[in-house]
Amino acid sequence: MKIHEYQAIEIFKKAGIPVASGKVASEAEEAVAIAEESGYPVVLKSQVLVGGRGKAGGIKVVQDKETLISTFAQLRELKIGGYPVEKVAVVRAIDIKKEFYIGITVDPGKNDVVLIASAEGGVEIEEVAKTNPDAIKKYYLQGERTLDLDRFQGFITSIFDDKTHQDIATDIFQKLVQVFFDNDCSIAEINPLVIDGEGNLLAADAKINFDENALERHAELNDLRDMTYEDADELEAKEKNLSFVKLEGNVGCIVNGAGLAMATMDIVKLAGGNPANFLDVGGSSNPEKVLNALNIILRNKDIKAILINIFGGITRCDDIAKGILQARDQIDLPVPLVVRLTGTNETEAKELLSQNGVETYATMREAVEKVVSLSQA
Ligand code: GDP
Ligand code: MN
Repeated sequence: MKIHEYQAIEIFKKAGIPVASGKVASEAEEAVAIAEESGYPVVLKSQVLVGGRGKAGGIKVVQDKETLISTFAQLRELKIGGYPVEKVAVVRAIDIKKEFYIGITVDPGKNDVVLIASAEGGVEIEEVAKTNPDAIKKYYLQGERTLDLDRFQGFITSIFDDKTHQDIATDIFQKLVQVFFDNDCSIAEINPLVIDGEGNLLAADAKINFDENALERHAELNDLRDMTYEDADELEAKEKNLSFVKLEGNVGCIVNGAGLAMATMDIVKLAGGNPANFLDVGGSSNPEKVLNALNIILRNKDIKAILINIFGGITRCDDIAKGILQARDQIDLPVPLVVRLTGTNETEAKELLSQNGVETYATMREAVEKVVSLSQA
């Protein structure tokens, strides 16, 4: 889950990281009041959950009230990466002398958390990685949740020249590590971390992504979610304990287990079809889940046929079969269903379905070939 800059700034500030002072506004009058309090010039920063706001014209420095009002109105009209600017942060302008990048993320290849820093800050780090990879320095936590200061020394001195800045940056990194683990982040990033005219180091931008799977440990973070960026169907699926991801194709998929769901999508592709979604009904037996799953995937008007692929272990095939029949009674199925079930209570399931006129397929290959041909009819 991504949060806005102004929200991430608050989290950093609470953790004791020095940040540029500011507040967020949705109306020009609020913005004026904030600017009046901090004094001009101020920076107006569009709050959208996409990168490169600066380049997109979403960040403007203004010198006086009049310009603030007109610029604020312009920004509110702007769309960045297709998203409307509903809130604008009004931040006291910093006299920037130098911009750095600092960030923490997970390196899945190394099974470790990595601290990243660069003296080439203010631009996208992916860009620096391409054009000037040597300018990016890394420090691996090696499984720890605190810094090994001896080893860290080499890392931080390669970025910051003078001792004072090295010490402050070390302190900022320690706090960033704390924020990262306390909130189960997948990314915590400051770009740019700046040196201002007085030689202070402070965060001029803030980015945090939370690990979606850890959010149930942080009820308070859920309030930070911006629904503008959420897919309504994915949210509903989550509430109903289904793992669902919408895709571009036209073959609806209902599968039990994430592994089988992935394999099913691969095989649909291999057979020349295109999956419309990933959907894992999970390992428990509950006819209602099939009904919920069908209701959600049928909202996608691109769907031409639906494949139900079940490998019964803890999931019992007869429960799935009951779900299919319930669904058929309750909803008007506009597209054909192709059902393949195997495993626990398979015989009962097949009997139940064939008594009610639902054909089943014996193998995954047959079922997939059938559903793909239906999707192309
Ligand atoms: P991003 O483009 O979405 O990453 O937005 P940032 O918040 O990083 O801002 C982009 C750039 O705007 C920064 O790298 C700075 O160069 C500039 N900027 C942001 N805040 C200030 C400020 O207070 N003063 C000045 N002079 N420039 C700023
Ligand atoms: Mn930035």
